[in-house]
Amino acid sequence: MPPKVSLKKLARKGGLFDGVKSNIHALAIGVKYLVDPQRSTLLYPKEYIEHRPGYRGFIVFVKEKCISCAACSRICPSAAMKMVRVTEIDPKHPDKPRQKQYPVINYQRCIFCGFCVDVCPTEALYHVPFHDIVYENLADMFMTLEQFQVEPQRPAVSEGLPVVYEVDEGKGLVKRRRG
Ligand code: SF4
Ligand code: SF4
Repeated sequence: MPPKVSLKKLARKGGLFDGVKSNIHALAIGVKYLVDPQRSTLLYPKEYIEHRPGYRGFIVFVKEKCISCAACSRICPSAAMKMVRVTEIDPKHPDKPRQKQYPVINYQRCIFCGFCVDVCPTEALYHVPFHDIVYENLADMFMTLEQFQVEPQRPAVSEGLPVVYEVDEGKGLVKRRRG
């Protein structure tokens, strides 16, 4: 037989009243954001927020700038960035292939902290200001060296239909342009 719950006891402990109070509070917040003209709910992907430069989104690798120091993979706190070995052939010395190492990224693990970009001494890594790309398979989130060098496009931009907003300090979301 289930134990008897005394309403008086619950009320005294604050459990019942606290529960009702926090539910009412949650509902009030929901209503507030429903009617607030500054709410940040958008009809994504037809509408999206364009983040300012410095936003830590997807990362792009510029192989020509890389000196293979591995600082990016060493600093990564989630082991998302790893070095891979490749064999390169210099056209001037085709008989002497060189072993090089370059970073690749696994977006299953990346937390977009940006440490790798900050630590790179040659600016061979940079962020794009978004990370709203959806992958159908987990395996697709593991970039190959070739994929890591291609700057991704936002889905809405590639479909050519966005209405773009940006965040204005004090004013909230401001419509910037219609695509
Ligand atoms: S952004 Fe952070 S978590 Fe992602 S690869 Fe770079 S260092 Fe690692
Ligand atoms: S820190 Fe920069 S230069 Fe060094 S391996 Fe990484 S991308 Fe290349």
